This record gives sequence, C-alpha cells and structure tokens, in this order.
Amino acid sequence: MPCLFCKIIAKEIPAEIVFENDQVLAFLDIGPVSEGHTLVVPKRHAENLSSGSEEDAQSLIFAVHDLAPRILQAVGADGYNLGMNHGESAGQEVMHTHMHIMPRKSGMHRSFTKLRPSAHEIHIVAEKIRLQQ
Ligand code: AMP
Ligand code: ZN
Repeated sequence: MPCLFCKIIAKEIPAEIVFENDQVLAFLDIGPVSEGHTLVVPKRHAENLSSGSEEDAQSLIFAVHDLAPRILQAVGADGYNLGMNHGESAGQEVMHTHMHIMPRKSGMHRSFTKLRPSAHEIHIVAEKIRLQQ
C-alpha cells in the first residue's frame, strides 16, 4: 500500500501544512492530543528514524527547533512534548518517520488521548500557526 505521508508530501491528499523546506514537511495531526499537535516528517521516505539517513534526522530536529516556538506562540502554549513511536511495538501506526510536537499549557492536564476536532477547527489552528511564519 502506498505510504500515507508520502502522499501528503506529494500533495496528493490534503493536509494542514504549517512548515515546509527542501527536506521536511510539517502538518497538523488529524487526531491531536492538544491544540497545535503537529507532525514533522522527512520528505524522503524511511520507515523510521534509524533506517533513514543522518542528514534527514538532522533536518527533522532542526525543523522542530525552528517550528515549535512558533506553534507555541500561535496556540498560547508554554511547553511541548516531543514524541516518536519507533516500530509497531512502540505504537507506530504510520510507517514513515514522524516526530510529534504536542503543545502544553500550564495547569492543563497532560493527556495523550486524541481529541476529535472538526476539519474546520484544525484549519483555524493551522491558520494561526501559518501567520507566525
Ligand atoms: P503514530 O502512532 O506515531 O504512527 O502516529 C500517527 C499519527 O498520524 C496519529 O497521531 C494520527 O492521528 C496521524 N494521522 C493519521 N492520518 C493522518 C492524516 N491523513 N493527516 C494528519 N495526521 C494523520
Ligand atoms: Zn512515506
């Protein structure tokens, strides 16, 4: 089966993209655990971080470094969890390397339960993040 995230990278299926450069694409998770939950993916397909190149691993963390503060600013968060499920046993569902950025606000429960926002609600969050670019 063709890779879902490769299709998003190729713009064959829609996503709320909030960051893009030659190496990396970032878009909002459709099942966020917090407002602004973003996935950062290397454009070159690899199943996981360790099977991809060192260069792509660097590009991924550089993008997180640049993008996370903008996401926090956009959604009014003051911290974030980074997450990566590496392998099926770790809960990886999409077999294309991706880093989760999960913004957190002081005093709010740090839940990993998926929220169920509408496509419109996700779009509004994406617009706020894109305005920070
Ligand atoms: P993981 O368990 O780390 O493989 O997580 C995969 C993530 O991809 C989950 O948090 C899903 O909600 C998310 N996801 C699945 N399909 C899409 C999609 N079409 N657009 C954005 N996020 C997606
Ligand atoms: Zn892929």
